[in-house]
Amino acid sequence: MSENKALVVLSGGQDSTTCLYWALDRFGSDNVSTVSFDYGQRHRVELECAASIARQARVSNTCLPIDTFAAIGGDALTDNDIDIDKNASAGGLPNTFVPGRNIIFLTFAAAYAYQRGIDNLVTGVAQTDFSGYPDCREATIRALQQTLRAGMESAIVIHTPLMQLSKKETVQLAVTLGALPALALTHTCYEGERPPCGQCPACKLRAKGFAEAGIEDPLLRA
Ligand code: ZN
Repeated sequence: MSENKALVVLSGGQDSTTCLYWALDRFGSDNVSTVSFDYGQRHRVELECAASIARQARVSNTCLPIDTFAAIGGDALTDNDIDIDKNASAGGLPNTFVPGRNIIFLTFAAAYAYQRGIDNLVTGVAQTDFSGYPDCREATIRALQQTLRAGMESAIVIHTPLMQLSKKETVQLAVTLGALPALALTHTCYEGERPPCGQCPACKLRAKGFAEAGIEDPLLRA
């Protein structure tokens, strides 16, 4: 087991929670901490979820404020006046895309890690994401890693264990890692509803992954 320390970007969702358990398995619980971002998201419940997921996993969780996205506006995740697209768009990006979000998150996470001697960042981005967010793609992450290494003169490594996995495979990985009970604490619904609405794109995608894996979603049992 590596003695290296790892910082997991924990949003409170299914993917980042699975990544937390991946990091616990890979780096050991004494070496893992988590960071979450308060970026003015309309669903504050995500941050509460992240805190309780970290608590259950017995790792620390630090919430960092970023109020600039809400000030910029124009996306449905920070602006309550914009309705969330009900369908993934065929061309173009859905209005849940917050431009630059993952780039900023990972940059601040890298700065946080730098100050604590942490060389590993773990993020739940996936190239297979149905929304097609370009900042979730392998090419973006590799370029950002190179930028962060150069700009901070650090040996930072950005781990993306879910990058090539389908939602079904992510559910299967969660089962393998023992993360399933923690998924009961996660938040996915774009409408911010608990229990989840079941109708929004995020709920539908989550349900599809569990159905294809043949696993009952612990969130729906709660
Ligand atoms: Zn929903």
